[in-house]
Amino acid sequence: MSRDSENANSTDTAAIRELFQSDNRNDFVSAVRMAAGRILKSLHVEEDRLDEILNEVEGRSLYQDFRDCWEDLAPEERSRKWRLQMEHIVQTAYACRPYCLRCGDCCSRVSPSLHPEDLDLVKSGILGYADLYTLRKGEPVLNNITGALENLSGELVKLKENPGNRQCPFYEEQEKSCRIYEHRPLQCRTQECWNPQALEKLWEKEKLTRRDILKGDAEILELLEVHEQRCSTEKADGAIKKYWETGEAAELDPVLDLLSQDLIIRNFFTERLGRGEEELDFLLGRPLSKVVEAYRLKVEKDEQGTFHLVQIED
Ligand code: SF4
Ligand code: SF4
Repeated sequence: MSRDSENANSTDTAAIRELFQSDNRNDFVSAVRMAAGRILKSLHVEEDRLDEILNEVEGRSLYQDFRDCWEDLAPEERSRKWRLQMEHIVQTAYACRPYCLRCGDCCSRVSPSLHPEDLDLVKSGILGYADLYTLRKGEPVLNNITGALENLSGELVKLKENPGNRQCPFYEEQEKSCRIYEHRPLQCRTQECWNPQALEKLWEKEKLTRRDILKGDAEILELLEVHEQRCSTEKADGAIKKYWETGEAAELDPVLDLLSQDLIIRNFFTERLGRGEEELDFLLGRPLSKVVEAYRLKVEKDEQGTFHLVQIED
Protein backbone atom coordinates (compact mmCIF):
# COMPACT_ATOMS: atom_id res chain seq x y z
CA MET A 1 0.00 0.00 0.00
CA SER A 2 1.43 3.38 -0.92
CA ARG A 3 1.57 6.23 1.55
CA ASP A 4 -1.14 8.04 -0.44
CA SER A 5 -3.57 5.21 -0.33
CA GLU A 6 -2.64 4.64 3.31
CA ASN A 7 -3.65 8.19 4.04
CA ALA A 8 -6.78 8.01 1.92
CA ASN A 9 -8.10 4.89 3.57
CA SER A 10 -7.09 5.62 7.15
CA THR A 11 -10.57 4.82 8.38
CA ASP A 12 -9.41 2.60 11.23
CA THR A 13 -11.22 4.77 13.75
CA ALA A 14 -13.07 3.68 16.86
CA ALA A 15 -16.20 3.20 14.71
CA ILE A 16 -14.35 0.84 12.42
CA ARG A 17 -12.90 -1.11 15.31
CA GLU A 18 -16.44 -1.42 16.63
CA LEU A 19 -17.54 -2.67 13.21
CA PHE A 20 -15.03 -5.53 13.40
CA GLN A 21 -16.86 -6.73 16.52
CA SER A 22 -20.27 -6.70 14.80
CA ASP A 23 -21.75 -9.95 13.48
CA ASN A 24 -24.28 -8.14 11.33
CA ARG A 25 -23.26 -8.06 7.67
CA ASN A 26 -25.51 -5.04 7.05
CA ASP A 27 -23.14 -3.06 9.26
CA PHE A 28 -20.34 -4.07 6.91
CA VAL A 29 -22.36 -3.01 3.84
CA SER A 30 -23.13 0.45 5.19
CA ALA A 31 -19.58 0.91 6.53
CA VAL A 32 -18.13 0.25 3.06
CA ARG A 33 -20.46 2.86 1.57
CA MET A 34 -19.50 5.43 4.19
CA ALA A 35 -15.79 4.68 3.79
CA ALA A 36 -16.09 5.04 -0.01
CA GLY A 37 -17.61 8.51 0.45
CA ARG A 38 -14.75 9.56 2.73
CA ILE A 39 -12.13 8.16 0.37
CA LEU A 40 -13.59 10.06 -2.60
CA LYS A 41 -13.48 13.27 -0.62
CA SER A 42 -9.89 12.77 0.50
CA LEU A 43 -8.82 12.05 -3.10
CA HIS A 44 -10.69 15.06 -4.48
CA VAL A 45 -12.91 12.90 -6.69
CA GLU A 46 -16.30 14.44 -7.54
CA GLU A 47 -19.00 13.23 -5.13
CA ASP A 48 -21.37 12.38 -7.99
CA ARG A 49 -19.04 9.52 -8.98
CA LEU A 50 -19.89 7.67 -5.77
CA ASP A 51 -22.57 5.39 -7.28
CA GLU A 52 -20.35 4.48 -10.21
CA ILE A 53 -17.52 3.59 -7.83
CA LEU A 54 -19.78 1.60 -5.52
CA ASN A 55 -21.16 -0.35 -8.50
CA GLU A 56 -17.64 -1.30 -9.47
CA VAL A 57 -16.61 -2.18 -5.88
CA GLU A 58 -19.75 -4.12 -5.00
CA GLY A 59 -19.64 -6.07 -8.25
CA ARG A 60 -16.26 -7.62 -7.41
CA SER A 61 -15.73 -10.97 -5.72
CA LEU A 62 -13.41 -9.29 -3.20
CA TYR A 63 -16.41 -7.41 -1.80
CA GLN A 64 -19.01 -10.16 -2.31
CA ASP A 65 -16.94 -12.91 -0.66
CA PHE A 66 -16.09 -10.63 2.23
CA ARG A 67 -19.74 -9.65 2.72
CA ASP A 68 -20.98 -13.25 2.43
CA CYS A 69 -18.57 -14.70 5.00
CA TRP A 70 -18.62 -11.67 7.33
CA GLU A 71 -20.40 -13.49 10.17
CA ASP A 72 -17.87 -16.35 10.08
CA LEU A 73 -14.77 -14.19 10.34
CA ALA A 74 -12.88 -13.36 13.52
CA PRO A 75 -12.39 -9.61 14.18
CA GLU A 76 -8.67 -9.86 13.25
CA GLU A 77 -9.52 -11.42 9.89
CA ARG A 78 -12.19 -8.79 9.28
CA SER A 79 -9.60 -6.12 9.99
CA ARG A 80 -7.10 -7.66 7.54
CA LYS A 81 -9.67 -8.04 4.77
CA TRP A 82 -11.01 -4.55 5.45
CA ARG A 83 -7.63 -3.08 4.55
CA LEU A 84 -7.69 -4.93 1.22
CA GLN A 85 -11.22 -3.74 0.61
CA MET A 86 -10.26 -0.13 1.34
CA GLU A 87 -7.25 -0.45 -0.93
CA HIS A 88 -9.53 -1.58 -3.74
CA ILE A 89 -11.84 1.40 -3.20
CA VAL A 90 -8.84 3.71 -3.29
CA GLN A 91 -7.67 2.18 -6.59
CA THR A 92 -11.15 2.46 -8.06
CA ALA A 93 -11.46 6.07 -6.97
CA TYR A 94 -8.04 6.96 -8.37
CA ALA A 95 -9.02 5.46 -11.71
CA CYS A 96 -11.73 8.16 -11.90
CA ARG A 97 -9.15 10.93 -11.50
CA PRO A 98 -5.94 9.90 -13.29
CA TYR A 99 -4.15 13.26 -13.19
CA CYS A 100 -2.39 15.53 -10.71
CA LEU A 101 -4.46 18.23 -9.02
CA ARG A 102 -1.36 19.94 -7.63
CA CYS A 103 -3.04 19.77 -4.25
CA GLY A 104 0.32 19.30 -2.53
CA ASP A 105 -0.88 16.49 -0.26
CA CYS A 106 2.03 14.25 -1.22
CA CYS A 107 4.55 17.03 -0.36
CA SER A 108 2.82 17.67 2.98
CA ARG A 109 2.82 14.13 4.26
CA VAL A 110 6.27 12.76 3.66
CA SER A 111 9.60 13.75 2.18
CA PRO A 112 11.19 11.73 -0.62
CA SER A 113 14.02 9.21 -0.31
CA LEU A 114 16.85 9.74 -2.79
CA HIS A 115 17.94 7.37 -5.58
CA PRO A 116 21.18 7.16 -7.56
CA GLU A 117 19.53 9.33 -10.25
CA ASP A 118 19.43 12.14 -7.65
CA LEU A 119 23.18 12.20 -7.01
CA ASP A 120 23.71 15.26 -9.24
CA LEU A 121 21.22 17.24 -7.15
CA VAL A 122 23.59 16.88 -4.22
CA LYS A 123 26.79 17.25 -6.27
CA SER A 124 25.49 20.48 -7.85
CA GLY A 125 24.46 21.89 -4.46
CA ILE A 126 20.72 22.05 -5.21
CA LEU A 127 20.40 19.80 -2.18
CA GLY A 128 22.91 20.55 0.59
CA TYR A 129 23.89 18.17 3.38
CA ALA A 130 21.80 20.29 5.74
CA ASP A 131 18.72 19.48 3.62
CA LEU A 132 19.17 15.75 4.13
CA TYR A 133 18.99 13.12 6.82
CA THR A 134 19.91 9.46 6.89
CA LEU A 135 17.94 6.50 8.17
CA ARG A 136 20.62 3.91 8.86
CA LYS A 137 20.35 0.24 8.03
CA GLY A 138 18.62 -1.54 10.89
CA GLU A 139 16.64 1.50 12.12
CA PRO A 140 13.04 0.72 13.02
CA VAL A 141 10.47 2.24 10.67
CA LEU A 142 6.73 1.80 10.47
CA ASN A 143 5.55 -0.55 7.73
CA ASN A 144 2.61 1.17 6.01
CA ILE A 145 0.96 -2.13 5.20
CA THR A 146 1.21 -4.08 8.45
CA GLY A 147 1.46 -1.11 10.81
CA ALA A 148 4.35 -2.97 12.50
CA LEU A 149 7.82 -1.65 13.26
CA GLU A 150 10.36 -3.17 10.89
CA ASN A 151 14.10 -2.79 10.67
CA LEU A 152 15.33 -1.12 7.51
CA SER A 153 17.15 -3.58 5.27
CA GLY A 154 19.28 -0.80 3.77
CA GLU A 155 20.17 2.82 4.31
CA LEU A 156 17.93 5.68 3.12
CA VAL A 157 18.95 9.28 2.50
CA LYS A 158 15.90 11.54 2.64
CA LEU A 159 15.00 15.21 2.45
CA LYS A 160 14.59 16.58 5.97
CA GLU A 161 11.00 17.17 6.95
CA ASN A 162 9.92 20.45 8.55
CA PRO A 163 10.13 20.31 12.36
CA GLY A 164 6.78 19.44 13.93
CA ASN A 165 5.21 18.01 10.78
CA ARG A 166 6.17 15.74 7.90
CA GLN A 167 6.11 18.42 5.22
CA CYS A 168 8.91 18.65 2.69
CA PRO A 169 11.00 21.79 3.34
CA PHE A 170 10.87 22.71 -0.35
CA TYR A 171 7.09 22.86 -0.37
CA GLU A 172 5.60 26.37 -0.48
CA GLU A 173 2.28 25.91 1.27
CA GLN A 174 0.66 29.18 0.23
CA GLU A 175 1.40 28.77 -3.46
CA LYS A 176 1.10 24.97 -3.26
CA SER A 177 4.32 24.76 -5.21
CA CYS A 178 7.76 23.19 -5.08
CA ARG A 179 10.79 25.48 -4.77
CA ILE A 180 12.93 23.03 -6.74
CA TYR A 181 10.25 21.77 -9.11
CA GLU A 182 12.56 21.63 -12.16
CA HIS A 183 15.08 19.67 -10.09
CA ARG A 184 12.81 17.62 -7.85
CA PRO A 185 14.05 14.16 -6.88
CA LEU A 186 13.10 11.04 -8.82
CA GLN A 187 10.56 9.95 -6.22
CA CYS A 188 8.66 13.24 -6.65
CA ARG A 189 8.77 12.87 -10.45
CA THR A 190 7.40 9.34 -10.12
CA GLN A 191 4.69 10.27 -7.63
CA GLU A 192 1.24 9.74 -9.14
CA CYS A 193 -1.25 9.27 -6.35
CA TRP A 194 -3.73 7.73 -8.81
CA ASN A 195 -1.14 5.13 -9.82
CA PRO A 196 0.54 3.91 -6.61
CA GLN A 197 2.22 1.00 -8.41
CA ALA A 198 4.72 3.43 -9.98
CA LEU A 199 6.01 4.44 -6.56
CA GLU A 200 5.87 0.90 -5.26
CA LYS A 201 8.11 -0.24 -8.14
CA LEU A 202 10.52 2.59 -7.43
CA TRP A 203 10.65 1.56 -3.77
CA GLU A 204 12.13 -1.79 -4.87
CA LYS A 205 14.99 -0.05 -6.69
CA GLU A 206 18.43 0.88 -5.44
CA LYS A 207 18.62 3.88 -3.10
CA LEU A 208 21.26 6.58 -2.85
CA THR A 209 23.53 6.12 0.17
CA ARG A 210 25.94 8.33 2.08
CA ARG A 211 28.81 6.37 0.57
CA ASP A 212 27.66 7.32 -2.97
CA ILE A 213 27.49 10.97 -1.98
CA LEU A 214 30.73 11.09 0.02
CA LYS A 215 32.77 8.99 -2.40
CA GLY A 216 36.33 10.36 -2.49
CA ASP A 217 36.25 11.72 1.06
CA ALA A 218 38.28 8.91 2.62
CA GLU A 219 38.51 10.50 6.08
CA ILE A 220 34.76 10.92 6.47
CA LEU A 221 34.05 7.47 5.05
CA GLU A 222 36.43 5.93 7.58
CA LEU A 223 34.73 7.82 10.41
CA LEU A 224 31.33 6.61 9.22
CA GLU A 225 32.63 3.05 9.59
CA VAL A 226 33.82 3.82 13.14
CA HIS A 227 30.41 5.30 13.92
CA GLU A 228 28.63 2.23 12.51
CA GLN A 229 30.77 -0.07 14.68
CA ARG A 230 30.45 1.93 17.88
CA CYS A 231 26.81 2.99 17.54
CA SER A 232 25.34 0.02 15.75
CA THR A 233 21.58 0.25 15.31
CA GLU A 234 21.49 -3.55 15.20
CA LYS A 235 23.09 -3.82 18.66
CA ALA A 236 20.66 -1.23 20.01
CA ASP A 237 17.75 -3.09 18.43
CA GLY A 238 18.78 -6.44 19.94
CA ALA A 239 19.25 -5.01 23.43
CA ILE A 240 15.99 -3.05 23.39
CA LYS A 241 14.00 -6.05 22.18
CA LYS A 242 15.48 -8.12 25.02
CA TYR A 243 14.48 -5.39 27.44
CA TRP A 244 10.89 -5.44 26.19
CA GLU A 245 10.83 -9.25 26.44
CA THR A 246 12.30 -9.51 29.93
CA GLY A 247 11.53 -6.14 31.53
CA GLU A 248 15.10 -6.18 32.93
CA ALA A 249 16.45 -2.60 33.04
CA ALA A 250 20.03 -3.97 32.86
CA GLU A 251 19.34 -5.04 29.25
CA LEU A 252 19.41 -1.33 28.37
CA ASP A 253 22.97 -0.78 29.64
CA PRO A 254 24.56 -1.54 26.23
CA VAL A 255 22.16 0.96 24.66
CA LEU A 256 23.35 3.66 27.05
CA ASP A 257 26.93 2.88 25.95
CA LEU A 258 25.92 3.20 22.30
CA LEU A 259 24.16 6.50 23.06
CA SER A 260 27.27 7.85 24.73
CA GLN A 261 29.47 6.80 21.77
CA ASP A 262 27.04 8.49 19.41
CA LEU A 263 27.31 11.72 21.39
CA ILE A 264 31.13 11.56 21.48
CA ILE A 265 31.38 11.07 17.72
CA ARG A 266 28.87 13.84 17.03
CA ASN A 267 30.90 16.21 19.20
CA PHE A 268 34.06 15.13 17.40
CA PHE A 269 32.47 16.05 14.07
CA THR A 270 31.46 19.53 15.20
CA GLU A 271 34.39 20.43 17.46
CA ARG A 272 37.33 18.71 15.76
CA LEU A 273 36.22 18.51 12.14
CA GLY A 274 34.30 21.79 12.12
CA ARG A 275 31.18 20.21 10.61
CA GLY A 276 27.93 22.10 11.16
CA GLU A 277 25.33 20.63 13.54
CA GLU A 278 22.83 20.83 10.70
CA GLU A 279 24.89 18.38 8.60
CA LEU A 280 25.06 15.66 11.25
CA ASP A 281 21.66 14.07 10.62
CA PHE A 282 22.93 13.32 7.13
CA LEU A 283 26.55 12.42 7.93
CA LEU A 284 25.84 10.29 11.01
CA GLY A 285 22.14 9.63 10.72
CA ARG A 286 19.60 10.71 13.27
CA PRO A 287 20.92 10.82 16.86
CA LEU A 288 20.47 7.46 18.57
CA SER A 289 18.52 9.31 21.28
CA LYS A 290 15.93 10.06 18.57
CA VAL A 291 16.00 6.55 17.10
CA VAL A 292 15.12 4.93 20.45
CA GLU A 293 11.85 6.89 20.53
CA ALA A 294 10.48 4.45 17.93
CA TYR A 295 10.80 1.79 20.65
CA ARG A 296 8.86 4.01 23.08
CA LEU A 297 11.98 4.93 25.03
CA LYS A 298 13.48 8.31 25.80
CA VAL A 299 16.72 9.53 27.34
CA GLU A 300 16.53 11.36 30.66
CA LYS A 301 19.28 12.85 32.82
CA ASP A 302 19.00 12.57 36.61
CA GLU A 303 20.16 15.10 39.22
CA GLN A 304 23.63 13.51 39.35
CA GLY A 305 23.97 14.01 35.59
CA THR A 306 23.57 10.28 34.82
CA PHE A 307 21.62 9.33 31.71
CA HIS A 308 18.78 6.78 31.83
CA LEU A 309 16.42 5.30 29.31
CA VAL A 310 12.80 5.50 30.40
CA GLN A 311 9.61 4.31 28.78
CA ILE A 312 7.47 6.84 26.94
CA GLU A 313 3.98 6.63 28.40
CA ASP A 314 1.10 6.12 25.96
S1 SF4 B 1 0.31 13.63 -7.02
FE1 SF4 B 1 -0.76 15.56 -7.40
S2 SF4 B 1 -2.91 15.16 -6.88
FE2 SF4 B 1 -1.70 13.49 -6.03
S3 SF4 B 1 -1.34 14.10 -3.88
FE3 SF4 B 1 0.43 14.79 -5.12
S4 SF4 B 1 -0.05 16.91 -5.71
FE4 SF4 B 1 -1.98 15.95 -5.02
S1 SF4 C 1 10.93 18.25 -3.47
FE1 SF4 C 1 9.20 19.38 -4.27
S2 SF4 C 1 7.89 17.88 -5.25
FE2 SF4 C 1 9.31 16.78 -3.91
S3 SF4 C 1 8.21 16.55 -1.95
FE3 SF4 C 1 9.43 18.40 -1.83
S4 SF4 C 1 8.06 20.04 -2.45
FE4 SF4 C 1 7.15 18.10 -3.15
